[in-house]
Amino acid sequence: MGRRRKRPRRLKGSPVTLCDLCAMVLPADEAVRAYVPDSSAAHPTHDWFDGLRLLTACGEPHLERLREEYRRRPFVQEELWAAKIGQVLADGPPSLTLVQLACLTGLHEPEIRRAVAWRNRRRQEPRRERPEP
Ligand SMILES: [Zn+2]
Repeated sequence: MGRRRKRPRRLKGSPVTLCDLCAMVLPADEAVRAYVPDSSAAHPTHDWFDGLRLLTACGEPHLERLREEYRRRPFVQEELWAAKIGQVLADGPPSLTLVQLACLTGLHEPEIRRAVAWRNRRRQEPRRERPEP
C-alpha cells in the first residue's frame, strides 16, 4: 500500500480522490465512503481504527460492490497482528527484540508469535488464496 500515493491534479484547487473499484478521479467531497471490517488494515496512528478499512467510491453502486467483496473476506485476527508488526518494522529500526516489538505494537508476546506463525504458514502456501488458519 503506497504511503506516497500521488494525488492526481486534474481538478485545480479542490482535493480529489479515486474510486477504490474503478479508479475514477472525482472531487473528494463527492466521493461516498464507508468503513468495513478488514483484518489486513492496521492504522498507522490510531489503534481504534485497526481492522477497519475506509472505502472510497464514485457512487453507491460501486461502494456496495466493494462492501460485498470485504463481506466475503475472512477476518483473521493473526493477519491484523501481522499488519501491525509489519508497520512497526517498516517504520522503525530493522531489528527489534520481542519485548521491544510488543511495546511498539501494543501486542502481547503470544500474539506476536501467532502472527509470525500465521505469516510463515501463508508464505509456504503462495498459491492458495487466503488460506484459513
Ligand atoms: Zn467507481
